[in-house]
Amino acid sequence: MAEASPGTPELYTARSGARIYRLPLRLFPGLDGYAHLVLDGGLQMLVDSGSGYGDSNDDLEAGLAAIRSDFGEDVGWESLTHVLLTHGHIDHFGGLPYVRPRTRALFGVHELDRPTVSFHNERLAVVAHRLRGFLTEAGVEAERLEHLMDLYLVSKHLYASQAVDFTYEACGMKVGALELIHVPGHCPGQVVMRLEDVLLSGDHVLPETSPHQSPETLTLSTGLGHYMDSIQRLKPLAPAIRVALGGHEGPMTDLAGRLQSIEAFHRERLALVERLLETPLTMAELSDRLFPAASGYHALLAFEETGAHVEYLVQRGLVGLVNADVLEDDLPEPTLYVRRGPHAPPSEVGRSTAGDGSSRESALGGIRGEQADVQL
Ligand SMILES: [Zn+2]
Ligand SMILES: [Zn+2]
Repeated sequence: MAEASPGTPELYTARSGARIYRLPLRLFPGLDGYAHLVLDGGLQMLVDSGSGYGDSNDDLEAGLAAIRSDFGEDVGWESLTHVLLTHGHIDHFGGLPYVRPRTRALFGVHELDRPTVSFHNERLAVVAHRLRGFLTEAGVEAERLEHLMDLYLVSKHLYASQAVDFTYEACGMKVGALELIHVPGHCPGQVVMRLEDVLLSGDHVLPETSPHQSPETLTLSTGLGHYMDSIQRLKPLAPAIRVALGGHEGPMTDLAGRLQSIEAFHRERLALVERLLETPLTMAELSDRLFPAASGYHALLAFEETGAHVEYLVQRGLVGLVNADVLEDDLPEPTLYVRRGPHAPPSEVGRSTAGDGSSRESALGGIRGEQADVQL
């Protein structure tokens, strides 16, 4: 991941002269990223707020101070007109409890991420409950499961819910000159923000990392199917974009190429999952084969990433359950997934995919040491 240097914002200028400053932030240990300040006419719009954790708030302050001192802009909490979220993930909205008491700026978010920022504890309870069920069904053993749940909840309990002033669809998906485009998948309310030839791509498109995917069974309007549709949605727009700025990592000057390579990456990973599932596996076994190096929080992200790919294939009938009876009888056993193949009739699933170990070997050969390139 690209290193952010706290306190040294970069300036990008849109075709009409509107200015976009990138504020580098240290979000969590091992995770850097950006908030952006958009100055257009009389509007001063802060896009994302950082994590609120560790150095993040200080970096935000240092960034604003540098925009005043190094670029001569009259910006600050008093003159800020809007605080806008690209999406409802804690590394982007966790700074709100710090930011909001300092400004009278109007706070906006997409409708589908409003529950996360405004009714946070309720959302957390619902998602944690589903996550526990997902990990249990995936075959994660009890002690590891509790550790993963702790990791999931640790930073999120620090946040205090914030009321929103407006939501994006209700205001016509436009704020000043910023055109908002809903691209669900990475997050239910993920938007990208277009200012003429500059695109703030949030975590929908990143230059180096393929943005994290999670199954829709955990949160509606996420899931790989929605994400791939949202990648398609940006393609017609891409040629007009000179530079795209994501929530993490460096600027992108070839958005069309990046969309294509992300799409190809997921197609390849889906094919790999299908190959691995020539032998029946639990979700946990599959995740450990796909992401053998993932540990700590990354192991949780790896489970979700695996779940999103399996769910995509199950939704399309390409992968099925070997032991649906454990669900039928509500047994506390993990479910086993297996490749159905495009043409096998349903009755053939169990028999045609028994596997003899050799297919597993060849499938494992296809992993090529991939890391858990997953992103919050
Ligand atoms: Zn992020
Ligand atoms: Zn995110």
